[in-house]
Order: sequence, then structure tokens, then C-alpha cells
Amino acid sequence: MDDCIFCKIVKGEIPSKKIYEDDKVYAFYDINPEAPVHFLVIPKDHIASANDLNDNNADIVSHIFKIINKLAVELNISDKGYRIVNNCGEDGGQTVKHIHFHVLGGRCLHWPPG
Ligand code: 5GP
Ligand code: ZN
Repeated sequence: MDDCIFCKIVKGEIPSKKIYEDDKVYAFYDINPEAPVHFLVIPKDHIASANDLNDNNADIVSHIFKIINKLAVELNISDKGYRIVNNCGEDGGQTVKHIHFHVLGGRCLHWPPG
């Protein structure tokens, strides 16, 4: 999508601190970290939100979770644990309309979220 900032990050039109990429996904550090480790994993193809997952595109979610597993080990947050967050829509607090999974770790996280 032309006016989507995460599509622009995937294309390299907006700079980002890349952690990982393959043919399907891109992982990069959040510009405004809420924890010592805070990165985002996104599909390279534009999917607006969890509301837009369907039989044709939902396999990307299991791929993303496998990549999160691998990156959590590499970034040393696997043993103590971490949180995976997907905000969907207005009430969910989604600000960027390209589906993304936050991974937060490196400190004890509170529950429930605000
Ligand atoms: P949301 O609120 O939609 O779940 O999360 C969007 C996240 O994207 C926020 O945590 C925000 O800090 C991050 N973000 C927004 N714009 C950029 C950007 O240009 N670069 C990076 N690395 N992160 C961004
Ligand atoms: Zn996009």
C-alpha cells in the first residue's frame, strides 16, 4: 500500500533497525520502545489488521510466531519470557494499519494492560 509506513519500511523507503527478514516477514526495533527489548514483526504483504486475516493469508501468523521464537532466543529474552501483542482497531489501540506483532521483553511486564 502506497501510504502505509510499514510497507515503506519493508521497501527500505523509511529507515529501520532491521533484526531479521525473509521472503515473507520483516522484523525491526520499535522506534519508541516500551521495554528493554521491543521489536515488531510484520508480514511483507500488506494486511491491515487481525480483522483481515482469512483462509488465504492466515498462515503468515504461524510463520511470524516461529520467527518470534527464534529471535527471542537470539535476543536472550526466551528464558525469562516476553509478551507478544497484537493491537487491532481503534479500541485495541492500533495506530499503524498494517498488522504487526509487538514483542516486549527484558523486564517484568504488568498485567492487565491499561
Ligand atoms: P500500534 O499502536 O499500532 O500497535 O503500534 C505501532 C508501533 O509502531 C508503535 O509502538 C510505534 O512506536 C511504532 N512505530 C510507528 N512508526 C514507526 C516507525 O517509523 N519506525 C519504527 N521502527 N516503529 C514505528
Ligand atoms: Zn502496509
